[in-house]
Amino acid sequence: MLIGVPKEIKNHEYRIGLTPAAVREYVAHGHSVIVQTDGGAAIGFTNEDYIAAGAEIVDDPAEIFARADMIVKVKEPQPDECKQLREGQILYTYLHLAPDPTQTRLLAESGVTAIAYETVTDRNGGLPLLAPMSEVAGRMSIQAGAHNLEKVRGGSGTLLGGVPGVEPGKVLIIGGGVVGTQAAKMAVGLGADVTILDRSLPRLRQLDDLFGGRVKTLYSTEDAIDRLSREADLVVGAVLIPGAAAPKLLTREHIRNMKPGSVLVDVAIDQGGCFETSKATTHQDPTYVVDDVIHYCVANMPGGVARTSTMALNNATLPFGLALANKGLAALQNDPHLLNGLNMHKGKITYKAVHDDLGATL
Ligand code: NAD
Repeated sequence: MLIGVPKEIKNHEYRIGLTPAAVREYVAHGHSVIVQTDGGAAIGFTNEDYIAAGAEIVDDPAEIFARADMIVKVKEPQPDECKQLREGQILYTYLHLAPDPTQTRLLAESGVTAIAYETVTDRNGGLPLLAPMSEVAGRMSIQAGAHNLEKVRGGSGTLLGGVPGVEPGKVLIIGGGVVGTQAAKMAVGLGADVTILDRSLPRLRQLDDLFGGRVKTLYSTEDAIDRLSREADLVVGAVLIPGAAAPKLLTREHIRNMKPGSVLVDVAIDQGGCFETSKATTHQDPTYVVDDVIHYCVANMPGGVARTSTMALNNATLPFGLALANKGLAALQNDPHLLNGLNMHKGKITYKAVHDDLGATL
């Protein structure tokens, strides 16, 4: 199969569909890969790296869309890209179709077979192509929080790890899933005083075993949130109720009662945010202040560490991508988890939740 990797064109998107290491894997399986000139240059993957891995470098993205049997990307195709897709071609990328009727209509018109990273499943009911980005965002949340606690950023001037003779900062993590666990790892690593709240007792048991007493776990109640947010230096919002908007767990009243210069990092902002005062921000202008509390609500945190994120994403996408390249659409018949990724085929929406939301608009 001929695999095409165009440069991402969404504003400030520096990730790329395939790393040179992934290209090498496709080539070793007998496939050919064409990569757009400088497609990974912004994150240190040079044209020479891709050529050494066995790719052909192509200047014009139109040539990639015209020649490739499968297009591998990161972000949803932009309107110009949608118009270049065609029936018989596979598109393998994040799509997030439900809130995007325009993209859905354009993909339907193209006839392309579109497989969405975000709906591929695994045997445990997880979302293996979303998990790496949650891992990145969870680890970044503590970095962002620590940075904004510095005085020059408007923070309280607290060092999360403290120093010998001075107590550490208090980190409250609401939601102990993938994001919350990775946030806790970073906060524990820095030496902070860490508490994780969750509504799932089995999850709290796992976290207690994992951290061996190094973090406190508490059942997530209004009482716990009210009490702990007053003392916290950093609160990380990491809840998810699948398929629903995030619940507003920290109210304006709670935030008013927090210490001046403390920091909120709302990772759940891509689901609407779990703090009442959250509104989405960007890497260019990541924070704002409400009631003396700094809010960091970047909706695409992994984009800020595009090199690490590209490599983490490729680790997860590669096995499914290779199956598609090796077997074509038969790969979907052999693997119900990959089949769950199929969102669009020959002009029809093939994913139930997207069909329920947008089927009538086609
Ligand atoms: P996850 O499903 O692994 O974990 C969510 C956890 O929240 C679960 O353990 C669940 O029990 C818990 N929870 C649900 N309701 C709760 C409540 N009332 N109180 C406390 N805990 C509660 O999800 P995840 O992968 O960790 O993702 C968390 C959020 O981060 C999601 O909204 C996801 O979309 C978002 N995310 C954002 C970015 C970004 O760039 N901003 C990147 C990746 C993920």
